[in-house]
Amino acid sequence: MRKFTFTILLLLIANIAAAHTVRVRLFDGKGLINTVSISSDSPVVASTPEGLVLADGWEVKATTLGMLLEGGPNPVELPGPIEFSVENAALPLLTVKANGLTRRYRGKITISPLAQNKGLLVINSLPQEEYLYGVVPGEVPASWPYEALRAQAILARTYSFNHLSPNRDYDLVDSTNSQVYMGFDHEKPTTNRAVDETADLVVGYEGKVVPYVYYFSTCGGQTEDSGQVWGTAVPYLIPTSCSAQLAQDLSDEEAAVAYFATPQATYCSRSSVGRWEVRLTAEDLAAITTGLCPDAEFVDLAVTRRATGGAVLEVTITTTKGDFKISGELNIRRKLGKNGQSLRSSFFALQKQLNEEDCTVEYLLRGGGWGHRVGVCQWGMEGMARQGASAAEILGHFLPGTQILSLADECGKLK
Ligand SMILES: [Zn+2]
Repeated sequence: MRKFTFTILLLLIANIAAAHTVRVRLFDGKGLINTVSISSDSPVVASTPEGLVLADGWEVKATTLGMLLEGGPNPVELPGPIEFSVENAALPLLTVKANGLTRRYRGKITISPLAQNKGLLVINSLPQEEYLYGVVPGEVPASWPYEALRAQAILARTYSFNHLSPNRDYDLVDSTNSQVYMGFDHEKPTTNRAVDETADLVVGYEGKVVPYVYYFSTCGGQTEDSGQVWGTAVPYLIPTSCSAQLAQDLSDEEAAVAYFATPQATYCSRSSVGRWEVRLTAEDLAAITTGLCPDAEFVDLAVTRRATGGAVLEVTITTTKGDFKISGELNIRRKLGKNGQSLRSSFFALQKQLNEEDCTVEYLLRGGGWGHRVGVCQWGMEGMARQGASAAEILGHFLPGTQILSLADECGKLK
């Protein structure tokens, strides 16, 4: 019995330790990587088939058989992964050069060849808390009020915990496809402190860590219902006003038009995209229409479905060939964008106007916010913190019904 208990305890400790290590794919979206240089102020240990070998620096090149490792006594060709680390340094950092970028990282670097001559896969493995040091200043300015930095640290930790993927080669990438992570040189004292002082804290719901957490730049007034915008209802991802007021039901078109005609005092009003305008000219509308049907001519544009929070979910474009419906928050942003740029958000109202100069019909889009607007408004965090709210109050406001939990306790509960 005692032995059994001891085994369970070991498993528990191993799982908690695993939950606190993240594996980040580096240089996401930076192109094919064929050569990587690894160096440090201290000797770098490479785990080769001959064992651990120390060198001042290493270079890994992709080959048709796998990888060529140079830097030790002899070049070695390897089919599989190789791990690099630094030992006996007060602050072990590895300098990684690839595709013209040079960055320093905490933890270990593992390099392996990708199949079909797709270059090298570079992964940084490090404790979750040290990963967060490199994430929080990539997501929000380190100069923001401290409670907003704490809230961002808790959000980023929750996000990374949700994306631990033991069955995949890595958990996260270093771009906006996961969370922006640029390693040691991007760290700032205030954001490191926010990570340290929220150590192991995550967003919880009904006593468990939440399975999804989302955040975005600016809501422009209020957030959205995930069920209406993405088709997956989540009890804490519901419309929330970015102010002390209650959220308004803007699903009615008249209510939405009136909302945008009136200035709103919001927590995120310091954001440069709290309110924005886009004018769709006759030329823009003709281009959109031609994209839908080459022979059609534009007749009219109308919002035909809107979420409770105000996001446009469907527009109808009437043409000489019939009606075309464009649906989906992201799809609408892309299709109604101009000059190759998507709309900042799908939170806007249409105003039909006559261009008196050339007697053509135009549409003024009065909009607000940037991003999908489901979850936590980052500029709203800034505004709430500026008014004295704590990180827990900020997250409780944007994610109603949630609480702050300790990840260490939660890992214990999961086993
Ligand atoms: Zn907001």
